[in-house]
Amino acid sequence: MPNEEMLLIPGPTPVVDSIYEAMSQETRGHTDPRFAAVYKSAIEKTREMLKTDGEVFVISGSGTIAMEIALVNTVAAGERLLIISQGFFGDRFLHLARAFGIQADIIQSEWGKQVDPAAVEEKLASHSYKAVTLTHADTSTGVAADLNSLVPIIKKHGALVILDGVCATAAIEEDMSKSYDGGKIDVVLTGSQKAIGVPPGLAVVAFNETALAARQQMERVPAYYCDIYNWIPIMQDPQKYFATPPVNLIYAYDEGMRLVLAEGMEHRYKRHEAYGKAVRAALAEYGMKAIADENAAAATLSCILYPKGMDDAEFRASLAKKGVIVAGALAHLAGKAFRIGHMGNTTEDMLEQAVIRIGETTKELGFEADIQKAVTTFRELAMPVA
Ligand SMILES: *Cc1c(COP(=O)(O)O)cnc(C)c1O
Repeated sequence: MPNEEMLLIPGPTPVVDSIYEAMSQETRGHTDPRFAAVYKSAIEKTREMLKTDGEVFVISGSGTIAMEIALVNTVAAGERLLIISQGFFGDRFLHLARAFGIQADIIQSEWGKQVDPAAVEEKLASHSYKAVTLTHADTSTGVAADLNSLVPIIKKHGALVILDGVCATAAIEEDMSKSYDGGKIDVVLTGSQKAIGVPPGLAVVAFNETALAARQQMERVPAYYCDIYNWIPIMQDPQKYFATPPVNLIYAYDEGMRLVLAEGMEHRYKRHEAYGKAVRAALAEYGMKAIADENAAAATLSCILYPKGMDDAEFRASLAKKGVIVAGALAHLAGKAFRIGHMGNTTEDMLEQAVIRIGETTKELGFEADIQKAVTTFRELAMPVA
């Protein structure tokens, strides 16, 4: 089932044939040993991707459920949470914290910029926080968090690091075994439909030993479906039942993870880095500028400002007629920018086609575009990585 359109929104991302094929296998009972073996393998592959020996959870739900699982199992009502936000999805943790009576403080960057590590240091020195949330790539702005500078600061102050990898996991390094000046990332959460490249519907969360100890200290949590204690027995032995897993989606996810590991993590990180740079530089040739500073730009998606006077609805509709789907921008950037995903199973060829179609659309709307130049720029930077 080949795709008819290029779905270049920041998730869901293009799904490849082998994933569609895996997904359309016969639906088995969720406790059937043949299905359980696939589920087990999908969990193991996730563990391998994140390099964790803690617990990995792969369950029904979107990325937002993964955020909820991460939070309710680590921070109790009344405890303090620090949120480091580079945009709309970082801010979402504030809404979650409020829903669970968690006392949250937030440091927000200007949209397009990273949070200043000095501000984080200052905040952590002023209060003791149970956990700090980081949004690895904020999908509203295309800004990435600088883990190398933030994780050591947070760990020095003894807080848990909760990393929202919904638009990053499998594309930007998230290695739970890596030591950041002695500190490690404690929780990574993601969804199936972004940089992993599987249809939407799965929440993926990994807890290390420190995060599991935080859950243990809490005794009870204000959740049932999202209580990891209800899921640990299933993750260890998928033939057991707690709530019915989405059998066909697990088939798809297992195949998606096979592709991720077969490509190799280092290759994926380099490939995404190259795609991000190439797409932004190519679009800049049309007078379209990313809102993120280039040194803070995410490898997985870009939020691109329109040239003055270009109409958002008209641009996206014309582009869609050419088979390329991009997303509008969020909040105060709505109408002023569009967002293009370049992650997961997108290819160099697809992105080059997108650059061409965007150039054609730009011209149709009465603006100038040197398509040949943009393609040359794209090719120089998107060179296949060895
Ligand atoms: C998409 C996204 C979410 C929300 O995921 P859903 O699957 O839409 O619930 C959370 N965080 C980030 C960074 C995202 O990109």
